[in-house]
Amino acid sequence: KKRNLNEPEFLQAVQEVLESLEPVIEMHPEYKDAGILERMVEPERQVIFRVPWVDDKGIVRVNRGFRVQFNSAIGPYKGGIRFHPSVYIGIIKFLGFEQIFKNSLTGLPIGGGKGGSDFDPKGKSDGEVMRFCQSFMTELYKYVGADVDVPAGDIGVGAREVGYMYGQFKRITGSYEGVLTGKGLSFGGSLVRTEATGYGLVYFVNEMIKAKGYELKDKKVVVSGSGNVAIYAVQKLQEFNAKVIAMSDSNGYIYDEKGINIATIKKLKEVERKRISEYVKEHPHAEYHEGHRGIWNIKCDIALPSATQNEIDENSARQLALNGCFAVGEGSNMPSTPEAIKVFQTNNILFAPAKAANAGGVATSALEMSQNSMRMSWTFEEVDFKLQEIMKNIYKNCIKAANDYGFGDNLAVGANIAGFLKVADAMYKQGVV
Ligand code: NDP
Repeated sequence: KKRNLNEPEFLQAVQEVLESLEPVIEMHPEYKDAGILERMVEPERQVIFRVPWVDDKGIVRVNRGFRVQFNSAIGPYKGGIRFHPSVYIGIIKFLGFEQIFKNSLTGLPIGGGKGGSDFDPKGKSDGEVMRFCQSFMTELYKYVGADVDVPAGDIGVGAREVGYMYGQFKRITGSYEGVLTGKGLSFGGSLVRTEATGYGLVYFVNEMIKAKGYELKDKKVVVSGSGNVAIYAVQKLQEFNAKVIAMSDSNGYIYDEKGINIATIKKLKEVERKRISEYVKEHPHAEYHEGHRGIWNIKCDIALPSATQNEIDENSARQLALNGCFAVGEGSNMPSTPEAIKVFQTNNILFAPAKAANAGGVATSALEMSQNSMRMSWTFEEVDFKLQEIMKNIYKNCIKAANDYGFGDNLAVGANIAGFLKVADAMYKQGVV
């Protein structure tokens, strides 16, 4: 704690994991002797760098760039890049730490890492975003590579930004390699990668509720956010005939009792890059409310937070429970505060933790890496089928780990234990490095 005093998000993520690992360490004293936990909470390497760029008025701007290479015990570092003004080292470390366990859960050979910048793409022209991405990659290229560290998208980084970064990497190194995932389909991207996190989330939640005799059909669902994860979660929910009644962005939320029109959201967010408040112009029967937290006061059966960290606090969780919500699936990373998770548990709300529930994105990124290495492209159906199998396996492995260590069907603990065991075994066998 002393070493990371000013990094509350990182401490929150570490504490949540370490608490669930106590019985595991008791059963594996050799991990204690080998300092596995002490090593696991310390990144192997972190790089912080200057990102200078010139805006449209010709003024020089300077942002800060980060890449944290957390753990490479089971494969090359893998994890997204986030562009958001709130980014600092504590956010990147929390995300990188979570990524170790998530990547392990996918069953694929990928280690944990994360990166980003405090650059805010909102309101910037395409040219400004391109110049920023080029400057960011001009430093980052020294540390990444197809077998070393493979970044992807996250908040504020989508296909456009990945494309600009990839172009710059290729220009500097002259190498046409799978150094980033989430690439455009014309230059090595994988089908289903865009949809993967949202689809995977819904596949996972479906497994979780099916085990308790529920189905998604006709359930009222609230999905926060309106970015990559939220949009494709909503699309898949609608394929399952669930009714999505609310979505949000950082300014506010919309409520549409007839069911959200996802085509309008895609147009507003993916094409026009506008605010969600514009939705009501096309659908005047819907309501728009300022402030994003209010979305959790809406009565629903299932809640899928898919915007950002700590978006559901204790009060929001209580409100969800009071309104009869029976399942929560985390699309964003660490969206529920520790107090909120306690409220879910004491109210017997089924809870799908982010590490497991949103692992579909990185799993499909690993499938993109495989296709790049093989110089092949799989069809949409092939990748989607693999994604469904991966999500089902993650669910089974989390339940098994929770059962094995006496935690019943607690998926949050199960995810931490299942993710940990593979990495710990690899670290143990590789010696003190
Ligand atoms: P996007 O940038 O595409 O969308 C983010 C959405 O969340 C936007 O609607 C944004 O609103 C909202 N949001 C962002 N920051 C805040 C904030 N501080 N307060 C309120 N709302 C906010 O990102 P993604 O959909 O890719 O990511 C969403 C979450 O999912 C993140 O936690 C990310 O780490 C996680 N995730 C993403 C994966 C992926 O494959 N993309 C994989 C696994 C996890 P606005 O536009 O107003 O900023």
